[in-house]
Amino acid sequence: MPTLELREVFKKYGTVEAVRGISLECRDREFLVILGPSGAGKTSTLKMIAGLEPLSGGEIRIDGRCADALPPKDRDVAMVFETYALYPHLTVCQNLAFPLRSPAFRLPEEQIEARVRETARILQMESLLHRRPAELSGGQKQRVSLGRALIRCPGLLLMDEPLSHLDAHLRHRMRRELKRMQAARQSTVVYVTHDYLEALALADRLVILDRGRVRQTGTPSEVYHSPADTSVALLLGHPRINLLSARIRNCDTDSDRLVLESEAGILPLPEEFRPLLQGRTEVVLGIRPHHIRLEEEASGHGWQGRVYAHENLGYRNLLEIEAGSCRLDVRCRESNFAVGSDTRLTFAESRLLLFDKNTGKNLKA
Ligand code: ADP
Ligand code: MG
Repeated sequence: MPTLELREVFKKYGTVEAVRGISLECRDREFLVILGPSGAGKTSTLKMIAGLEPLSGGEIRIDGRCADALPPKDRDVAMVFETYALYPHLTVCQNLAFPLRSPAFRLPEEQIEARVRETARILQMESLLHRRPAELSGGQKQRVSLGRALIRCPGLLLMDEPLSHLDAHLRHRMRRELKRMQAARQSTVVYVTHDYLEALALADRLVILDRGRVRQTGTPSEVYHSPADTSVALLLGHPRINLLSARIRNCDTDSDRLVLESEAGILPLPEEFRPLLQGRTEVVLGIRPHHIRLEEEASGHGWQGRVYAHENLGYRNLLEIEAGSCRLDVRCRESNFAVGSDTRLTFAESRLLLFDKNTGKNLKA
C-alpha cells in the first residue's frame, strides 16, 4: 500500500494555478524525488502534503486515509524547508532536542542526548552543538534545520531543497549521508529539488513536474534514457540535450536508406527507427552532448563542423560546435580542438532520440 497518494490535486492562489491536477504515489520506505524547474509547483505540493496549505481540488491520502481532516500535527510528517526556521535564543543542541521534548515525544533525557549525538554525527556538526544560530553560516543553519526534522524519525519526511545553501563539496557529502540514513532508518521520503543530478542520485523513483503538471514518473534510468518528452529531456543533463528540427526522407520506400535531413547535416538512421517514422514528414531530433564524437580526419561520414567554443575542465571538455546553421553542445575527453578549427561529428546512433514535432512527445516512449 502506498504511504502517500495524491489524486488529481489542484492548488490555486487567486488566479495563479500553481498545481494543475497532480496524481502520484509514494510507496512505503521509498525515496521519491520531485524534480522540476523553479515555479513548477513543488513547494506548494509539499505544503499540501504536510497540511500547511489547503487543497483547491483533489485528494491526499496518507496510509490509506484521506488527509483532509488531519491537522499537521496528526500526520506523522516532518518537513524541512529551503529556509531554516531555528529558535535564535537556543543553542544548536537545544534546537535539535526541541522536537523530542515536545508533549508528543517526552523522551527520557539520556535518549534525547543519544539522538542528538547521532544526528550531529550524521550532519557533521558535533563541534557546533553549543553555538547559537547567529553564530552559524547559512549552510550550517541548513544542516541544523535538517537535523531537527531527522531527529524525530517521522513516518514521512518531506524535504524542500534541503541542500540548496551548501557548497558543492558538502552538498555531495550530505546527499550520500541522506541516502544512507534513509536506508538505515527505512523512512519514507518525498524530496523536492530543481537539481537533476541530486534527483538522479537520490531517487528510487522520480516525478518530473513542469508548470503544475506531472510530465513523467519513473526510475532514474527510465527518465534519463527514455524521457517522455522534450521538456523532460531538457531538464536531465548538462549541457542540455541538443534538439534539432529534421525532415524525414525515404521513410515510405523500403528500398532506400532512411535519412534525416536537419540544418546541421544529413543523418542516415538505423532501420529500427523506420516503424516510428511511418506517415511523418518532420520530427525533432535529440542528441545528448556525450553521444557526439568529434573526429579529426576531415573526410568520412558525419557532419562537418567548426569549433565555436572550447572549455577544458581537465577531466573532460565542453565544446560548442557550429554545424550548418546550428550550434551543438558536445562533451568529450579529447582536448586538441582549437577554436575555429574544422571537425567532423559522428553519433552514437542507438542513443538518438526522436520527438513529435508538435507535441514534443518521445516517439519511442
Ligand atoms: P516551486 O517550489 O516549484 O518553485 P511553488 O510551488 O513555490 O513552485 O510555486 C508555484 C507557482 O505558484 C509559482 O508561479 C508561484 O509564484 C506561485 N505561488 C506560490 N506560492 C504562492 C502564494 N502564496 N501566493 C501566490 N502565488 C504563489
Ligand atoms: Mg520551491
